[in-house]
Amino acid sequence: MQKLEMIYEGKAKRVFATDDPELLIVDYKDDATAFNGIKKGTIAGKGVINNQMSNRLMQRLERAGVPTHFVEELSERETLVKRVQIVPLEVIVRNIAAGSFAKRYGVEEGIVFDEPTIEFSYKNDELGDPLINSTHAIALHLATVDELNTIRNYAFRVNEVLREFWASCGITLVDFKLEFGRLSDGTIILSDEISPDTCRLWDSVTQEKLDKDRFRRDLGGVEDAYAEVMRRLREHDV
Ligand code: UDP
Repeated sequence: MQKLEMIYEGKAKRVFATDDPELLIVDYKDDATAFNGIKKGTIAGKGVINNQMSNRLMQRLERAGVPTHFVEELSERETLVKRVQIVPLEVIVRNIAAGSFAKRYGVEEGIVFDEPTIEFSYKNDELGDPLINSTHAIALHLATVDELNTIRNYAFRVNEVLREFWASCGITLVDFKLEFGRLSDGTIILSDEISPDTCRLWDSVTQEKLDKDRFRRDLGGVEDAYAEVMRRLREHDV
């Protein structure tokens, strides 16, 4: 597999073409941003952790029946993935109130929901990723009715699988963001990454935050938190 030209550089990853038109190489950086790019920094070692963590979680999800873009881990920071056209929606599943949910509805962080919730944001940096409902997403041709049903079902399945796995690691899965893509034949698969950058993970006993909120909120110990989550994943992902 030959790594060819860079075709995209995002906030946390670079994406390269390969000699196979259906495959890309993702290269994870240590750069971190928050609040739509206003806050910038680096989290040493994050790229390695997010690459390895995302790959292990995606392989677990594949085994549970959720198709993903994962093909092969090539190095500490690089992974071969299936090329997709990204559905421009951030799919957010929540088990516990936190972040923008707590702020929007004026509730405390930490309220445990009876049932998980799902919401979509329109992936558009200029507009600041506004919340969008499914009828608006369909009206804007961001996804079809069938695609949204598939995405919703996969997102809740991901929640079941990951919630159980993280619980076995002594970690509470508070909420997370997923992105889906279409293969060239239109099949919907899970894409992007699953990591402490995209999930809220709280220690089950102490409630300590073990995710990107440590960076967003200047809580300190960011590197240690990411390393601790990875250590627990390695210990329990056998
Ligand atoms: N999230 C993300 N990327 C975004 C926005 C949110 O990965 O651009 C994740 C975030 O880490 C959290 C979940 O989605 O695990 C819900 O985030 P929320 O809507 O509460 O927004 P935030 O408080 O992070 O702005």
